[in-house]
Amino acid sequence: MEQTLVLVKFDGVARGLVGEITSRFEKTGLKIVAAKLTRVSQELAVKHYPADREEFLKGMGNKTLENYAQMGADPVEKLGTDSPLEIGKMIREWLIGYIQEGPVMAYVLEAPHSVELVRKLCGHTLPLIAPPGTIRGDFAFDSSFLANTAKRAIRNMMHASGTVEEAKYEIPLWFKKEEILKYRRTDEEVMVG
Ligand code: ADP
Ligand code: MG
Repeated sequence: MEQTLVLVKFDGVARGLVGEITSRFEKTGLKIVAAKLTRVSQELAVKHYPADREEFLKGMGNKTLENYAQMGADPVEKLGTDSPLEIGKMIREWLIGYIQEGPVMAYVLEAPHSVELVRKLCGHTLPLIAPPGTIRGDFAFDSSFLANTAKRAIRNMMHASGTVEEAKYEIPLWFKKEEILKYRRTDEEVMVG
């Protein structure tokens, strides 16, 4: 069994989409083993988006540069730099603000391959590119271009751990051990055997 950290960020909570989103996860066979609606402190925000995770920062920067290239926009003109790391650092500051805009719904979801499964259901980081049928594709339209022009984070409603390693780092930031519960769902036997 694999666990993953999933957040419905404030745009999803504010739009009343928590039920719809939760229902999609549950129906796919993902088991909720921890859940809470919570406000995010500055301390948690900076730990969740750590400054020293260069790979994460560069990843965000590169995704942004790809989106700019597709749209024929010049990153230097729009953001003042075309360095993936520098762009990543800029986005990180916006993200720390975004995650604290209002309450977020946090879960730990469990299933075989839960990390990959949740990422698939959430869809691409940029809602504009996320296919229909995914949460981001069905309920949002934001792009890097729109977000960066307004100097803010992309409103894509979801955070989901990107790798098993990331999940192992993130889950203890959000939940104490005793908040993560063990139980059986009645459909487990049919789905997993
Ligand atoms: P994901 O959430 O799909 O794992 P990342 O970990 O790369 O994506 O990025 C974290 C979050 O940063 C995204 O969910 C999004 O809200 C925000 N973000 C990513 N790229 C940009 C960007 N170019 N401009 C603004 N916000 C961004
Ligand atoms: Mg990520």
